[in-house]
Amino acid sequence: MLWSGWGDPAKAAALPAPIRGLLRDLLGVREPETPAASFGEVRLPVAALSPLVLSELAGIVGADHVRTDDDARIRHTRGKSTPDLMRMRAGDGSDAPDAVVLPGSHGEVLELLRACAAHRVAVVPFGGGTSVVGGLVAARQGFAGVVALDLARLNRLVSVDAESMVVEIEPGLRAPQAERLLAGHGLTLGHFPQSFEYATLGGFAAARSSGQASAGYGRFDDMVVGLTVATPRGTLDLGRAPKSAAGPDLRQVILGSEGAFGVITSLRLRVRRAPAERIYEGWRFASFAEGSAALRRLAQDGPLPTVLRLSDETETMIGLARPEEIGGPAAGAGCLVIAGYEGSSEVAGLRERAAAVLAGLGGVPLGPGPGESWAHGRYSAPYLRDSLLAEGATVETLETAGFWSNLPRLYDAVRLSLHASLGSPLVMCHVSHVYGTGASLYFTVVTAQSGDPLAQWEGAKRSVNEAIVAAGGTISHHHGVGRDHREAYAAEIGDLGVEILRGIKGRLDPEGILNPGVLIA
Ligand SMILES: Cc1cc2nc3c(=O)[nH]c(=O)nc-3n(C[C@H](O)[C@H](O)[C@H](O)COP(=O)(O)OP(=O)(O)OC[C@H]3O[C@@H](n4cnc5c(N)ncnc54)[C@H](O)[C@@H]3O)c2cc1C
Repeated sequence: MLWSGWGDPAKAAALPAPIRGLLRDLLGVREPETPAASFGEVRLPVAALSPLVLSELAGIVGADHVRTDDDARIRHTRGKSTPDLMRMRAGDGSDAPDAVVLPGSHGEVLELLRACAAHRVAVVPFGGGTSVVGGLVAARQGFAGVVALDLARLNRLVSVDAESMVVEIEPGLRAPQAERLLAGHGLTLGHFPQSFEYATLGGFAAARSSGQASAGYGRFDDMVVGLTVATPRGTLDLGRAPKSAAGPDLRQVILGSEGAFGVITSLRLRVRRAPAERIYEGWRFASFAEGSAALRRLAQDGPLPTVLRLSDETETMIGLARPEEIGGPAAGAGCLVIAGYEGSSEVAGLRERAAAVLAGLGGVPLGPGPGESWAHGRYSAPYLRDSLLAEGATVETLETAGFWSNLPRLYDAVRLSLHASLGSPLVMCHVSHVYGTGASLYFTVVTAQSGDPLAQWEGAKRSVNEAIVAAGGTISHHHGVGRDHREAYAAEIGDLGVEILRGIKGRLDPEGILNPGVLIA
């Protein structure tokens, strides 16, 4: 993973000339005056952990698994939001952990947490490092140092219960490795977020992730039937049946807790049979409103495709949605729907029935072209962000969700807020996940960088968070809370809600060492 950007540097995507022209002419983007810092120019804080603490940690995991070198520290600094990348590009490594520790078992995690609690060392659980909400930045104040607890060594497929379609799997596995291991058993999780190449299963559970095929396979939190968690107070082992009426479901306390309550060391996940067939195709609707109505109908009355997404007029036009596939802007781009069907013999029938609904509601079939090209390029967009940043454009994404009846208000509120903060940015949106009761809206914003692009974006982000809360949306459908959404989350759940979470944290983590400042203050 590129330390100051996204993904495999070999896959870096140069900006096509027409996009460069568009940025210059439409948004007034100018190349930044200061070049990005090199790896050697990153400024790191002096490592704070004493030799005594380091040797105690090494005694638990082995000296090879405690790293204090610059390379390890830089690669475990923050996550991959646009502000995170801006800070790294400016050479700001001030949030680097003092050490990176790689435990090899649940028992080692327990011991590490006890040792860190005893020495008041903050611990940041680290999966793939793809958080986009500041979920990997611990508050240092009052602590003797910060340790990144990298779960990469917890990477086994522990067991497969083919009868129950449940697997036990460790949290440090990256999604592609997990899918490869499951494919060996003819199984899949069906969890394909855009961060698929790097994110881990533990990170998906801790941040309640949602993949692009959520209509068919469900969100990640739907897949978790059980989990084991190491906390400074001991072990929590939750989930022993598919459903239970035995009191409140404590699994839900851990899902979405973003490392603030404990470290997930094992997951029991519901799996599906790997699909034998996949069909992806495009549809055009005249407007976002008409497209939304069609998606709602499928979500409420079925049949529900495995992948279902709708780009608004701007996103469709801009080519993120490949306008050439739908006749180009001159033909009236309208709004592009991608519908995907995965499974075995039932796929053709499912497609036919869904197609009849879409056509009946005004959809124009565009054939497999747009669907295949979406599937082919589904992980490539994040690579463009690095090129845009280098060119002098800020590009960032944000997301929310609401009930169908409130979706137009939410859509307008986000767009209005971004325009009020940023002048004339390009704001694109798609409906990314659908449910019977509502849907999530995923926005991509592109704007010319000001003299202080970080402050420019942070101001816009604060306002849009407030706008989302005021418009009755949730502050996050799938990115999580981290530090960036903490205030808005508190507004969403209210003072009593925050008090409950503080109570839980106080019980599980009395010294407050786990991800301090993330999720709740
Ligand atoms: C380009 C890009 C595209 C993205 N697309 C999507 C998308 O389509 N859908 C989506 O849902 N998200 C998306 N994300 C956000 C991100 O990938 C998810 O939040 C993902 O779940 C994070 O997984 P990770 O392994 O990288 O976790 P990390 O970033 O390492 O950690 C995320 C949070 O969970 C905590 N944590 C990690 N592992 C554990 C553990 N084992 N126990 C306890 N706490 C833990 C961390 O402390 C942190 O607070 C995207 C991010 C990027 C950069």
